[in-house]
Amino acid sequence: MFSRTCLAFANETPSDQANLDRVCCWISFGGNVGDVKATFDAALALLSLHCHIQLGQRSGLYTTAPMGSSAGRPFINSVCELTTKLSPLRLLNVLQCVENQLGRVRDIRWGPRTLDLDILTYGQYVHDEPDLIVPHPALTYRRFVLDPLAEVATDWRHPVSEMSARQLVARLEPRPLRVALPEISPSQLDKLSGQLRTRFPEVKLVHADVEQSDVLRVRTSSPATEGERAVIDLRRSPGDLLEQLTSTLTAALDAPQRLSDW
Ligand code: ATP
Ligand code: MG
Ligand code: MG
Repeated sequence: MFSRTCLAFANETPSDQANLDRVCCWISFGGNVGDVKATFDAALALLSLHCHIQLGQRSGLYTTAPMGSSAGRPFINSVCELTTKLSPLRLLNVLQCVENQLGRVRDIRWGPRTLDLDILTYGQYVHDEPDLIVPHPALTYRRFVLDPLAEVATDWRHPVSEMSARQLVARLEPRPLRVALPEISPSQLDKLSGQLRTRFPEVKLVHADVEQSDVLRVRTSSPATEGERAVIDLRRSPGDLLEQLTSTLTAALDAPQRLSDW
């Protein structure tokens, strides 16, 4: 079942390695089309063929709410550790090759998919270019990756905020969940509150000028300012502000259900 195109990566020459030290990475697995568990197993099998990738711990399998209006049925999510000498971009390329091999079609942004493999963290490396952002920019608010990570990556810390996965989950648990949109005017905030109230009665939108530890901060049009920790950045999210917030709050509020060991 493994085509030669994908197997080609098992034959890379040493020059593909960029001569790096071995780096510990965390990869998220997600899917909601076909036999997702079988696809995850096939992805692991393909990755294990790569001569510069060693697989490590992995979490159980979780079922999670779909994120976004076009996402389709509920997802299965998990996370897996690997160590590699591949450069970050080379690793991303290998993951995309595995996604393609296992039937991933990229038509709708945040649409249904057989397999999504994202680099959550690449050691302590911090990089922000459109092709690759690490740590993954949505890692701080997506319970469908944080809960699996908290299960297995007990010593892990977010390279920028230095918070553990358990601490990042804990920020999302208070009810009401207080969410600040510092770039939004008070009248826009009132309007958004009205639009979100029915779907998210447990969320309270607030206008906070300064960082408060019990308020999640959301950036809509500019990057986090100095001192803002684990801010939610909507700039890569599809749709208008209401749709972006709906997707984000779904991912932040939905507590994944653990289905089984992987
Ligand atoms: P999201 O990244 O919000 O989870 P997605 O996984 O559905 O969305 P994809 O269609 O899989 O998005 O990937 C879109 C692009 O994101 C890829 O072409 C890739 O270059 C880029 N990208 C940036 N940072 C990362 C990362 N850390 N892991 C995976 N892809 C990334
Ligand atoms: Mg993704
Ligand atoms: Mg992806």
